[in-house]
Amino acid sequence: MKAVVLLAPNEYVYQDVEKPQCPEEGILLNVKYCGLCGSDLRTLRSGHKNIQFPAVLGHEISGIVAEIGPSYNGDFKPGEALCVGPNVYCGTCEFCVRGELEFCENLRELAQHWPGGFAEYIAIPREALDNGVIRRIPDGVRMEHVAVGEPPSSCINAQEKLNVHDGDSLLIIGAGPIGAIHVSVARARGAATIYVADIAASRLEMVKDFGVDAVIDSSKTDLIEEIMKLTGGKGVDVVITANPVAVTQVQAIEVARKAGRIAFFGGLPHADCNVTLDTNKIHYRGLHVIGTTGFAPRHYDESIRYIAKGLIPAEKLVTHVLPLKDFAEGVELARAGQAMKVVFEI
Ligand SMILES: [Zn+2]
Ligand SMILES: [Zn+2]
Repeated sequence: MKAVVLLAPNEYVYQDVEKPQCPEEGILLNVKYCGLCGSDLRTLRSGHKNIQFPAVLGHEISGIVAEIGPSYNGDFKPGEALCVGPNVYCGTCEFCVRGELEFCENLRELAQHWPGGFAEYIAIPREALDNGVIRRIPDGVRMEHVAVGEPPSSCINAQEKLNVHDGDSLLIIGAGPIGAIHVSVARARGAATIYVADIAASRLEMVKDFGVDAVIDSSKTDLIEEIMKLTGGKGVDVVITANPVAVTQVQAIEVARKAGRIAFFGGLPHADCNVTLDTNKIHYRGLHVIGTTGFAPRHYDESIRYIAKGLIPAEKLVTHVLPLKDFAEGVELARAGQAMKVVFEI
């Protein structure tokens, strides 16, 4: 079968590899679409602690059940269309038992601990079927759209923790695919006013399509002044940093209203994560600053429902569908900020 194989950082090839065996108690999925994730771009550039070369990445998957293992006892049937998220939780650690599955102490992922979906076939082991996020695709949902069900899951988790609700005003700093998804999720939860800031004009242009009230180019305008102008000097109810830039965490503290809620959603590069914040602002203004990461299966299920209902407009999010052989072109489009989500057709 054909696959994109990562041989070393920045070195990948589209080539023939051996088709995986159907796991004894699992299934073999014929991959139809696989989305390119921001984390894939990082792994392509600099590897990942859980990944050994050669590796097949790709964890935003939709496909058709090709085979079921001889001892498989689930109810998926050959020919059924499934969407697949990467996470495989242990189900038994303290965090899993408490329902805080995103902190599972034994979390494993497809495309890390097992080969991923930038390939014609992916073997889905029993652990992933029992304790992962593998679902039937709802009727009427296009397979290339539902492939990107994973990234909204973390956004939904964050906004649940922030309690984004009716009438809220939000600033989302970062107009990439994650910023755009945050816009849609906030709208679905009833947010009244949504501002998005970024330093890339091309991304700001694309995010306008998601129904924002104003975009702010912080390469040209002072973000803090602009938000104060837009909110009559009050600040916004909620700020989400959806980018890897330290200064945006400082800005988030400055633009939140009194008792405002802030999520540090995007991680920062290790060398850059000791950030100086005015903690008196947090104290005297009664700010709620939280970190969020990952998701539990219920967030993935909600993401699929949002996509099915059009609350997350997957047709706008997926700006490029390319054949897998054009992998390098997709990577370039995403790196240049010219694409929202790139999905490969396999
Ligand atoms: Zn992803
Ligand atoms: Zn666990």
